[in-house]
Amino acid sequence: MTCKDAENLIPQFLDDDLDNKDLSDFLHHVDTCPECREELTIQFLVQVGMKRLEDGKNFNLNQELTVLLGDAKKRLTARRYLVLLSYVLEAAVVVMFGACIVLALAL
Ligand SMILES: [Zn+2]
Repeated sequence: MTCKDAENLIPQFLDDDLDNKDLSDFLHHVDTCPECREELTIQFLVQVGMKRLEDGKNFNLNQELTVLLGDAKKRLTARRYLVLLSYVLEAAVVVMFGACIVLALAL
């Protein structure tokens, strides 16, 4: 992923609107690219900071961004497990179906 790609994905990331592959590439990029991490931080501060100011609550945005990035990684892991699980279930269905046919033929 290039810096331009990553920058373009920042709004979607903040809206939690990336698919697994883009999210994975994006998280990897901002982990390894200080410029894009900085850009993400700025856009995050603008988007969330404005909202917090309106709410008038105390906030620690740097910590919130760290939490947000951590959550995104956890969600990505969870989604990958779900994809894997769906393959396993699909395989199980195929095996069961095969077993039913074998049983039907044998009985
Ligand atoms: Zn970059």
